[in-house]
Amino acid sequence: MDEIVEQLLQLSANTSTLMAVYDADDRLRYANRAFRSAYFIEPDESPLWPDLMRRNFELGRGTVIHASNFEEWLRSTQSRRGKIGYRAFETDLVNGRWLWMTEAVQKNGWMLCVASDITSLRAEERSVRQDRDLAIKASQTDELTGVANRRFVMARIEDMLVAAKDGGAGCLAVFDIDNFKHINDRLGHHAGDLVLRDFAQRIHQHVRRSDCFGRVGGEEFVLAMPGTSVEDAIEIIERMLMMIRFSRPLTESPDFSYTCSAGVAACLTADSAPELYRRADQALYAAKLSGRDRVRAA
Ligand code: GH3
Ligand code: MG
Ligand code: MG
Repeated sequence: MDEIVEQLLQLSANTSTLMAVYDADDRLRYANRAFRSAYFIEPDESPLWPDLMRRNFELGRGTVIHASNFEEWLRSTQSRRGKIGYRAFETDLVNGRWLWMTEAVQKNGWMLCVASDITSLRAEERSVRQDRDLAIKASQTDELTGVANRRFVMARIEDMLVAAKDGGAGCLAVFDIDNFKHINDRLGHHAGDLVLRDFAQRIHQHVRRSDCFGRVGGEEFVLAMPGTSVEDAIEIIERMLMMIRFSRPLTESPDFSYTCSAGVAACLTADSAPELYRRADQALYAAKLSGRDRVRAA
């Protein structure tokens, strides 16, 4: 028996697993090197658990405590601590380490605490979560302009049609930059890309939060405007077209300006997204035919 206790203490002293034993009064009666180092406890010390926590809190080390008032935190924590046979939880330290802490309490009130370092595990999860969020964002964003892409804006058009079926108004606007092929041919593809970026950024600045603006391909963009009448939509779009008219996006060619045309269609009760889009596109065609740099309604 003595040999086993001796081996156990030696193993405990040399492991990176944190181990501690508290008595029924919550006084620390044993802690291995890993535990003492994590919680700043001298080798001969046996503090009460609340005193240990308070000292570390005041010195800004040890357990991260998300509370402005330590005594309040202590009260609520103590009202749960050691009252059930076993509990396990994640806890982080001020120095950035994450621990998986287990507390096993026996009938006489003594408690065994064992904790493993899960800092790298947590970091992995964090990067997986970040990767997932970035992938979702990328799947919804147009790479060149940074605005919503076709997939995302089409889904918002479907949403708008669902809302319109319940009696809500809504308009779809389709934008197409005028003579864009000519811009490309005259100034090069790179200048064309700059114009696309300029267009997206300028329009985006004037898109209301309830609306959704996106690039659907080439030099074509759409704006879904839920709850908006055709009259209001036209007013908003005319302001946008004017803004584009006054834009000078190319520093190499400071006199260069461009325009764009738009078609707008209102949601009908039994509309489908392709039908709505087709009418807006027809209106756009009419705007092009009648001279460009203007908006037409279906
Ligand atoms: P309209 O006023 O009738 O719309 O004439 P347009 O020249 O704008 O129309 P058209 O559809 O003939 O030309 C669109 C051009 O857009 C053709 C294509 O080379 C160019 N284009 C499509 N995507 C991109 C892109 O991502 N970057 C650049 N720079 N050009 C693109
Ligand atoms: Mg086009
Ligand atoms: Mg065009």
